[in-house]
Amino acid sequence: MSVRDLIIMGCSSQQPTRFRNHGAYLFRWNDEGLLFDPGEGTQRQFIFANIAPPVVSRIFVSHFHGDHCLGLGSMLMRLNLDKVSHPIHCYYPASGKKYFDRLRYGTIYHDTVNVIEHPVHADGVVHDDGKFRIEAAFLDHGVDNVGWRITEPDTRKFDPEVLKVKGIYGRDMRELIEKGELTINGERIAIEDVSWIRQGDSIAVVIDTRVCPNAVKLAHNVKLLLCESTYQNEHEELAYNHYHLTAKQAATIAKQAGAKKLVLTHFSARYQGIEGFEAEAKAIFPNVFIAEDFKTFPL
Ligand SMILES: [Zn+2]
Ligand SMILES: [Zn+2]
Repeated sequence: MSVRDLIIMGCSSQQPTRFRNHGAYLFRWNDEGLLFDPGEGTQRQFIFANIAPPVVSRIFVSHFHGDHCLGLGSMLMRLNLDKVSHPIHCYYPASGKKYFDRLRYGTIYHDTVNVIEHPVHADGVVHDDGKFRIEAAFLDHGVDNVGWRITEPDTRKFDPEVLKVKGIYGRDMRELIEKGELTINGERIAIEDVSWIRQGDSIAVVIDTRVCPNAVKLAHNVKLLLCESTYQNEHEELAYNHYHLTAKQAATIAKQAGAKKLVLTHFSARYQGIEGFEAEAKAIFPNVFIAEDFKTFPL
């Protein structure tokens, strides 16, 4: 199986700090690179992370506040420079089309990169190729802002050793898959006897929102929820006024959704240390981790 992980390229909110770059999150998964919210400086963060930008195949922009998109133009320029041969699919809230175009065409370059745009108009599935199903849902951030859920289908895995022992090859294999059973030398073999179902992975990205039903819906039973927690509980009112979450609220969303793992990010510059986020969330949702620039979380 190819590498599958989440690499934090930055975890600040609006204002970067000495130790936290503007947010950007790369999932390497099924030979693709899914890049979420490339903030300012994302291109350089790839260099520090020792990852070649052409790994990126899809870019998701939740909304067009600067900390979520200022790196879009430079990432597209970099992929152009690297002459990537694969298309770059870009997903963003449809009302932000003018900002997308400004960022994409903000400077002079010989544009050859194949960008395929997927403006999101409403909640629902925006892509399904049998490898990934991508769902979008609008959150509550005062401006159009989209959260994401990505699911990989369940797949049947055959046990090569058992197949060998039972003498199932080629045409027999096709029959077994088509009919779900097979008779060899008088023995009836069900497909379940020689295989198992590997449950597909699933992730959700919920960044920049107040508590809202769609946040819980996107994260339903996911293996990993990447969620903003701009503030700690002592600043709950600030969080509400600025359409953001506290660590406690993010943990509550993860708990209600039945997520398996929670990664918190998008920390306000007012907090120098980020230990407080972990302690606050852990009291509600124990399997919580705190993002740091270049930290990697295996899926
Ligand atoms: Zn933000
Ligand atoms: Zn925002």
